Amino acid sequence: MIAILLGAPGSGKGTQAKFLSSKYGLTHLATGDIFRNEIAEKTPLGIKAQSYVKAGKLVPDDLVTEMVAARFNSKEGRYLLDGFPRNLTQAQSLSSILAHENLSIDLVVLLKISQELALERIVSRRVCSQCGEVYNIQTKPAPGGKCLSCGGEVILREDDSETTARKRLMVFEDITRPMIAYYQSESIFKEVDAGRKPEEVSVALSMFVDSIFAKS
Ligand code: AMP
Repeated sequence: MIAILLGAPGSGKGTQAKFLSSKYGLTHLATGDIFRNEIAEKTPLGIKAQSYVKAGKLVPDDLVTEMVAARFNSKEGRYLLDGFPRNLTQAQSLSSILAHENLSIDLVVLLKISQELALERIVSRRVCSQCGEVYNIQTKPAPGGKCLSCGGEVILREDDSETTARKRLMVFEDITRPMIAYYQSESIFKEVDAGRKPEEVSVALSMFVDSIFAKS
């Protein structure tokens, strides 16, 4: 089972990917989370990626693709990709990586959301600096700025500032949206309205995943 969640920053990819990976036992591969960890740990990859992530730009394809390829293991075979691929080159690289591992994509879902709502969600999002749990100052505040799961400090992600969030939304429109056509004509491609409550989006996504498992 290989599933891909596509969508603009703020569309809820991370939240839905966590839900689906825990419900269906999929390995959640979130390139943004991996970069944030590598940056926090000051690894060679983190040091190379830092300036791009901070500026809301895409990290160069060779770094991203190498990082993703190293995490695939054909024996495991159940992955949920969140934040990758983000352009046509990455989509083509993914096809080659999967072919090499004898795997193929079962489901690609685009989480559709308006730019205004995406921006509103990003700037009100807060994350735990320790465990990455996601909060929202309007819908899910962290009492006293502390994480309910681990007690860590809950902060505004550096690239969630309004200026950088606007840049990231532009990158999505200019670079990632054209890539969607790579998948759009195939039967594996689905869309959901991600402007709804997270629980409603989860129900819609579960129906797609259930139908894949029912076929296998
Ligand atoms: P995200 O958490 O998915 O919004 O990603 C945060 C940042 O990580 C992005 O703005 C990029 O700088 C970087 N990033 C994540 N995934 C990719 C990717 N597939 N290609 C290039 N850069 C990425």
